[in-house]
Amino acid sequence: MSYDNDNVFAKILRGELPNTTVYEDESVLAFNDISPRTPVHVLVIPKRPYIDMDDFAANGSTEEIGNFFAKVGEIARLVGLQEDGYRLVANNGKNSGQLVPHFHIHIMGGRPLTEDGMTAAM
Ligand code: 5GP
Repeated sequence: MSYDNDNVFAKILRGELPNTTVYEDESVLAFNDISPRTPVHVLVIPKRPYIDMDDFAANGSTEEIGNFFAKVGEIARLVGLQEDGYRLVANNGKNSGQLVPHFHIHIMGGRPLTEDGMTAAM
């Protein structure tokens, strides 16, 4: 399976679709989920075109992967979730129900997360 350049996150990265950015640098973009399931629901994506976690782990450099996950932690702090806690979700492939084929991490928080909170992003 090859990367689909027409997926919505590719369009966001090219500026063809609007987004509410919470953080951006040369390698990472974080923006609010269009359909938030928790009071804070941020998506973090690498700017390079990886389909999912499997693709990222197999083809990203160790530096790139380490940098990305460090940024995820920084962004969770930036949006104020470090004290009360949060959940990270990464849907990967068909059985996970991954909708957008550009690797992304959901950062979800702002209230106690029940089972609903966990399944809502899947
Ligand atoms: P997945 O199921 O692939 O892990 O999650 C994809 C997420 O992307 C969903 O939570 C969905 O609400 C969000 N999403 C889909 N299209 C857009 C969009 O155009 N803009 C934003 N900000 N989020 C989107």
